[in-house]
Amino acid sequence: MDEALLHHAALPMRVSFDHPAARRRRSDSLVLALTAGGVTGLGECAPRPYVTGETTDGVRAGLQRVPMRRLLERLRTTGSEELLELLRRDGFARTFGVAGGNNLICLLETAVLDLLGQRLGRGVGELIRPAGPGPSGDGRAPLPVSQVIDLGTGVEEFLATRGPFHFVKVKASDDIERDARTVSAIREALGPGVPVMVDANMSWTYDEALGNIKRLADCGAGLIEEPLRKGSWDGLRDLRRATGVPVMLDESLCTLDDARTAVRTGAADAFNVRVAKCGGLLNSAAIIDFAREHGIAFQIGVQVAETGPLIAASRQLAFRHRDAITVEAGQSDRFFERMIVTPPPAVDRAANTISPAEGAGFGMALDDSARAWAVLRYAPDTDRWQPVGGGGESYEG
Ligand SMILES: [Mg+2]
Repeated sequence: MDEALLHHAALPMRVSFDHPAARRRRSDSLVLALTAGGVTGLGECAPRPYVTGETTDGVRAGLQRVPMRRLLERLRTTGSEELLELLRRDGFARTFGVAGGNNLICLLETAVLDLLGQRLGRGVGELIRPAGPGPSGDGRAPLPVSQVIDLGTGVEEFLATRGPFHFVKVKASDDIERDARTVSAIREALGPGVPVMVDANMSWTYDEALGNIKRLADCGAGLIEEPLRKGSWDGLRDLRRATGVPVMLDESLCTLDDARTAVRTGAADAFNVRVAKCGGLLNSAAIIDFAREHGIAFQIGVQVAETGPLIAASRQLAFRHRDAITVEAGQSDRFFERMIVTPPPAVDRAANTISPAEGAGFGMALDDSARAWAVLRYAPDTDRWQPVGGGGESYEG
């Protein structure tokens, strides 16, 4: 029977993650299991008010306004190849006539792509980027991933326990001298070959940024992420000119329009492309295409504490865009006692690399433990969403 089951996964984290915009101790993801014609696709989004202005409550409310009966019927009655062609041409929102913010679109689109991948027996990456010549590539070689040091981790511990290092991201604190010491220690330990980026998460004024960026660059930082208030296009351009230090946009870069604005105003050297923030895989791929056309570098990034399908989605994107300057794999293996998907997305910690998923779609299914986080079920016969379960709190004990 066709149905949709929404989970609000607030998984407790073994270690918290601190950065200038938030401290996280639990995941805050919506996970959708969409079943049509006997095949179940998994989707996820991770709304963050300080990034896109969306919240899990808001996305949950938005989902209940989506014409689900029509969507499920379309999935069941339209050929997979035909749907895929429409999706690649028109995007998810237009193809399915769904209006909503980036995280709602991501939640639905990832579930639909997983479902189509399973029907077609192909990985989701192949669906969004058919194999062929060019920078996308189709190799299955492992990809190195970056390591991030948050505000709760000392630099000595980080250097001693998190290697090997391919690319290091430092979350800025409110103390520039501390950050300068962190960057210097990393640079001293790793030598000149490993890129070091500092992510300020929008926390600096223009004048602070001017001084901080010069100081951090002197210590060996080669890239600065989102130094100013979101959308400070002219300030970003002026900072790039004044310091000569490359800037990566994250919170300011959520849509293709943002990418166009960034290029037009000269505000960026690189984009941090994160699937949920950017409104799903197809929109993310379009932003990457645009970046390449305009000589902008890009990173495939993650939200902190993604719980399963979103991790898979971001990796499918990464393996189809191997020219990213770096790829984040997240730390789900460190954060969570038990994942809600099986097999859990792995990172080879001996090498700090990821390998492509096996199997069709995202190559994962919901684990039994996911049931505790189910909150709403949609059934086409009633055309309504009904509350289910205890909302996940039982899992904590
Ligand atoms: Mg960031």
